[in-house]
Amino acid sequence: MNYSRWVVTSAWPYINTVPHLGNMIGSVLSADVFARYLRLRGYEVVFVSGSDEHGTVIEVEARRKGIKPHELTDEAHEYVSKLFKAWYISFDNYTRTESEVHKEFVRDLMMSIYRNGYIEVREQVMPYCEKDRIYLPDRFVVGVCPYCGYEDARGDQCDSCGRLLNPEELITPKCTFCSSRPTFKVTKHWFFRLDKVEDVIKEWLVNHKYLDENVKNFSISWIRQGLKPRSLTRDNEWGIKAPFPEADDKTIYVWFEALLGYISATKEYFKSLGVEGRWRDFWLNNDSGTAYFIGKDNIPFHAIILPAMLVASNEGYNLPTIISATEYLMFEGQKFSKSRRVGIWIDEALEIIPEPDYWRFALIRMRPEGRDTNFSWSEFLRIINSELNDDIGNYIHRILTLIYRFFNGLISKPSTYSDIDLDFLDKIKKAVSRYCEYMDLARIRAASDVVLELARSGNYYLNVKQPWAKIKTDTNDVIATLYLGFLSIYYLGLMLHPIIPNTTRKLFNILNIDINSVKLTPTVVDIETPHKISKPEPLFKKLDPDFISRIDSIVDEARGRAQSKRPNVLKW
Ligand SMILES: [Zn+2]
Ligand SMILES: [Zn+2]
Repeated sequence: MNYSRWVVTSAWPYINTVPHLGNMIGSVLSADVFARYLRLRGYEVVFVSGSDEHGTVIEVEARRKGIKPHELTDEAHEYVSKLFKAWYISFDNYTRTESEVHKEFVRDLMMSIYRNGYIEVREQVMPYCEKDRIYLPDRFVVGVCPYCGYEDARGDQCDSCGRLLNPEELITPKCTFCSSRPTFKVTKHWFFRLDKVEDVIKEWLVNHKYLDENVKNFSISWIRQGLKPRSLTRDNEWGIKAPFPEADDKTIYVWFEALLGYISATKEYFKSLGVEGRWRDFWLNNDSGTAYFIGKDNIPFHAIILPAMLVASNEGYNLPTIISATEYLMFEGQKFSKSRRVGIWIDEALEIIPEPDYWRFALIRMRPEGRDTNFSWSEFLRIINSELNDDIGNYIHRILTLIYRFFNGLISKPSTYSDIDLDFLDKIKKAVSRYCEYMDLARIRAASDVVLELARSGNYYLNVKQPWAKIKTDTNDVIATLYLGFLSIYYLGLMLHPIIPNTTRKLFNILNIDINSVKLTPTVVDIETPHKISKPEPLFKKLDPDFISRIDSIVDEARGRAQSKRPNVLKW
């Protein structure tokens, strides 16, 4: 990829709740692994996201709790920010939509779009709930989808056919708060003329080199239906005041402003470093790449609406380079559900197993890449015990222990290699270059397959070579085996570093190599010898075999501990 630097982003979590494992793998964790990979490759990276805190849900929730929306989001933002740190998420800036830099940036960009003639005022019929005394934008009206007949379509989008909707298109609409049928009132709104950028966006999509097929096909077929103007404003009080003339009582629709958070967060980051202008290198230089990690339900907003706003601003912003949209992670065959308590939330996870690397590894192995996947406890156990411990951990430990036992930890190069050695060296080289190819395209689970295959080949190689049987008779062969063993675990460590950063840091300490000074290249590089390692220790522990039979009580206890640590606004 011919870029000098990257902005990596994950979708902004809506901060009325704690993210669950599905949210984690869908955006934040995937983005973190990708950001860490790019840093390891030597790119300059800014990794940003933030709490999405405006909009109707939080306004209504705060009202019901008798507090101000700000009180709710202050506490929730602080708690979730800490959780992301605990999960080793390496954000350069995890900010929030109440940040002053963000609000100012949104208003400025909206005014550029306005001045460029992409905004028009229209009277709009909006659903209004007489009982709740609130306009019901977006998702707060549900009804039957006029296109596919899905019964639970929301006012802004149908989850079944994926089309964006307007609330008045719904057949038999209902207020999501009280289920009564809303009335429709006329109110004035400021509309974004998506239709005026349709051709530009379509051409950009068609010619895009890196977009996944699912993102490309979905977006192009959506554009074929014709892009319609979309309302940019809302009648909410809680949000960013609309900057347009005579729009004093309106706020900007949360979705439009949160998308612009990717840019404002970069701007805020460099401002905090005292080099404010540098954000422009990342967003306006065309040798900078931008990567977005989202769930598939967010495709239209990232592949159409965000690029449309950037084009309409006419300020020369880079359009998305990579949009990695995951399918859904199910939980024991069901959808994650807060109301039905189906799933595991990220604070509960750390109460079950406090080392995030286990969760990170398992979730990457289950990443819904190209298809829906299912989190099950039995699969979790298999991944931790068999893949992480047996295949990877055991192999690394075997090699290091042999080096330590036979050569006091000293690694040197052999005078010759056998055919078996050369074959294994070739496997290492192919694994590293394939890993980089997959990771370049954000195919993270596919890249993790490559890592596991290499560890398994390593175990096999060691079994065939049997250095313990030759240490007295063929020292050169033992040196060759352990040098290549060392080279392979060095690369396993590098390739795993973005996924399990804490454990690989421990590994590199044992290897006596400063992980911060190492770069990963797609071409395998020899390691300077002689090189001395420290005394090896096992990197991973297996889960008890009775983990599965005790899982219900383990989860109950973890849930109790997590609840007691949550701020009141996030308690269920
Ligand atoms: Zn539909
Ligand atoms: Zn209602």
